[in-house]
Amino acid sequence: MRVQVDANQCQGHGLCQMTSPDVFALRDEDGHAYPIAEEVDGALVDAARDGADACPERAISLK
Ligand code: SF4
Repeated sequence: MRVQVDANQCQGHGLCQMTSPDVFALRDEDGHAYPIAEEVDGALVDAARDGADACPERAISLK
């Protein structure tokens, strides 16, 4: 599964990273999220979904 964060929609709340720290991290420079790996499989698929569901801006897309 491919994980993407829309940099324009992300507001840096950090909820994705708090929910799924194995999938999402926050940039030091602006606090916005990025996927640690753009492709996830196994247990990280569920973690990626949980992180996406936690985002109030709907900035995370999974394909
Ligand atoms: S929860 Fe959404 S808005 Fe907040 S840091 Fe993560 S991707 Fe960005």
